[in-house]
Amino acid sequence: MAPSASLHPFASPAKDDFVTIVRGEGAAVYDDQGTRYVDAMASLWYCNVGHGRSEVVDAVAAQMRTLEAYNCFDPYTNPAVEDLSATIADLAPMDDPRIFLVTSGSEAVDSAIKLARQAHVLAGRPERTLVVSRDTAYHGVTFGGLSAQGLPANQEGFGPMLPGFVNLAQHDLEAVATLLSERGDEVAAVLTEPVQGAGGVHPPEPGYLEGLRKLCDQHGAYLIFDEVICGFGRLGRWWGAEHFGVRPDLITFAKGVTSGYLPLGGVVVSRAICDVLEADADYVLRHGHTYSGHPTVCVAGSKCIEITEREGLVDRATAVGKRLSDGLGSFVADGLAAELRGEGAVWALGLDDRNDAVAARDRLLELGVIVRAIGPATLAFCPPLVSEAADIDHCVDAVNETLR
Ligand code: PLP
Repeated sequence: MAPSASLHPFASPAKDDFVTIVRGEGAAVYDDQGTRYVDAMASLWYCNVGHGRSEVVDAVAAQMRTLEAYNCFDPYTNPAVEDLSATIADLAPMDDPRIFLVTSGSEAVDSAIKLARQAHVLAGRPERTLVVSRDTAYHGVTFGGLSAQGLPANQEGFGPMLPGFVNLAQHDLEAVATLLSERGDEVAAVLTEPVQGAGGVHPPEPGYLEGLRKLCDQHGAYLIFDEVICGFGRLGRWWGAEHFGVRPDLITFAKGVTSGYLPLGGVVVSRAICDVLEADADYVLRHGHTYSGHPTVCVAGSKCIEITEREGLVDRATAVGKRLSDGLGSFVADGLAAELRGEGAVWALGLDDRNDAVAARDRLLELGVIVRAIGPATLAFCPPLVSEAADIDHCVDAVNETLR
């Protein structure tokens, strides 16, 4: 059979057999054959509030009937963007920040890099353009984030990456210290995920994020946390920054902010950077997307935050993550898997050479569980925060059967 007209992302263009997902409810989705799957990846690290919530649909429909969309370029705004921005600013682990909205994590990362560079220019430091990131980082697929990320396979065949990026070893604070001592006055920002997600779920070494904060302060660089996965409750606090007790200057977010009901991303911009941007009333920030501040998307975000608060889903992340990690950890203790990595409600099981990750993922699909294979030896788990104990137990039982 020839492949369909849909050219799939992160897939072989020659592939013609995909699992057709048609419906979702809570922590589960269903395919076109009626098979139920526990969605232990919250789709792609995003569906925190669970699938099929009609109150999100109703809020979105009501906004669409009133004003489906309108741009936020000067001189326009709308109540939905103002409400959501105020809510996120209140939740942010910073004093009096502002929120720049986009529609994906990649756009959020590129926006954060541009804001960091622009703020240095406005503050009289135009030589600060360098962005420092680390190995196995994932920062999206547009050229800024793609140039910063540390997964070389994703860069292959796409021509030259952007200049002005340095990628260092994953946990090597010493390497950051050396770079900053040698080229500190060229550095615009250090960019890092608090817990690396798509690169295989790697929590930071103790002291790493605190060390980055200190080095950035010493050398006048901004610290950007890419919280596209960690933000909005995934680690058991609203932000990874809170979970690790480190305050960055910019935070990128996406995914969990709307649980994917509509595409939204953004950047939390600290007061120090806002002060620089606001200093000259004649300055214009020449950055933004057609759909930055799209009111219908913003309403989905506000509703998902309301649900997250009302149902205590941030706290629930800790409980969901504990049940999952206790179960998965037993396989390491029993010698069935090599290691367990994770934090909050995002985990990865490192397989030994008796199991291949893609084969294990496919077997788990047959058993009604969706996980993500990363490379040949990692299975990732990022369940919806509404997952019931039975969903997690089903997932753990299926992994047990698969490994055995
Ligand atoms: N940054 C991080 C940390 C991510 O995990 C992702 C996506 O997984 C991105 C950026 C890119 O987000 P998007 O796929 O919405 O462009």
